[in-house]
Amino acid sequence: MANTWIIAVEPEIAALVEHGRAVGGSVVAVTVGGTPVAGVDRVVDVPLAEGVPAEAAAPAVAAAVAAEAGDVVLAANKPAERVLAGAVAARLGAPYLHGLKKIGQGSAELSRFGGIALETVSFDTAVVAVLDGGAVPEGEAPAAEAASGEYYEATVTGQDKVDVSSANLGSAKRIVAAGRGFKAEEDLKLAEDLAAAIGAELACSRPLAEGADWMSADRYIGVSGQSVAPDLYIAVGISGQIQHTVGMVDSKVVVAVNNDDKAPIFEGADYGIVADLYEALPAIVEAAK
Ligand SMILES: Cc1cc2nc3c(=O)[nH]c(=O)nc-3n(C[C@H](O)[C@H](O)[C@H](O)COP(=O)(O)OP(=O)(O)OC[C@H]3O[C@@H](n4cnc5c(N)ncnc54)[C@H](O)[C@@H]3O)c2cc1C
Repeated sequence: MANTWIIAVEPEIAALVEHGRAVGGSVVAVTVGGTPVAGVDRVVDVPLAEGVPAEAAAPAVAAAVAAEAGDVVLAANKPAERVLAGAVAARLGAPYLHGLKKIGQGSAELSRFGGIALETVSFDTAVVAVLDGGAVPEGEAPAAEAASGEYYEATVTGQDKVDVSSANLGSAKRIVAAGRGFKAEEDLKLAEDLAAAIGAELACSRPLAEGADWMSADRYIGVSGQSVAPDLYIAVGISGQIQHTVGMVDSKVVVAVNNDDKAPIFEGADYGIVADLYEALPAIVEAAK
């Protein structure tokens, strides 16, 4: 039976555990620096000295992941985990599965061409994939077995703090996403009011984050941004280009607000409101209250 290895620097790995359970064997977390992780069968911890970045543990993490043929190695799509997953793939000589949607024993479904096609692949070697980690799993964290290994020489000598959001959109149940239909940055208050009224996270299309700089880059949804699967996704002033919709296509219920009744976003929406967002949003907020 193939096993799953999850590389974890941070504890948000619920989606990875779910994929691991579908594979069928045991789910083992290789953590760095004593990160407590729940929901797995075993934990092997690679210790990290004070002031050493997690990426420096790449050789030790690669040594701790004892993946065999057919095993699956997963890591959350975060900077340190991506580096560690690369080191493990190199050590194992394992292929990297890009766009992973579903994985089982010896086969996987991969999103292709921006999400409009699915490719099924089969494998008999170990494989590595980096994808959205999801929320923190529930349950007790198993006691960790200590691993040892080599480290790269690296020390954190200073930190520049940037004020970025800590949104975990991957585990959000409700999302209000704003697009270029908003004419000015201050108008986003309308979207914030709606998000506050229904307990949603705020997100956006790419031009609002890259270009306008009205929101941080970790808040835009799409092929080059975040992939989300909330219960409710409200797209406001978003046209619905495929580069955006591929990131929200797994939402359970989609509501679109757009003043153009031919906007492509309506094609995949469960509820469409053809209206000027400047009139519709205050009315929806009032109704939600
Ligand atoms: C390689 C590549 C990667 C990309 N990756 C991404 C990605 O990851 N995510 C992403 O989002 N985009 C991505 N894009 C950009 C993408 O192609 C679109 O340009 C972008 O999604 C459009 O954003 P938008 O819908 O907010 O703006 P627009 O396409 O300009 O749409 C604005 C919408 O607002 C409506 N509107 C205007 N005024 C109002 C009003 N008063 N009330 C209601 N509705 C109104 C309009 O009818 C229109 O439909 C990528 C592009 C490329 C080339």
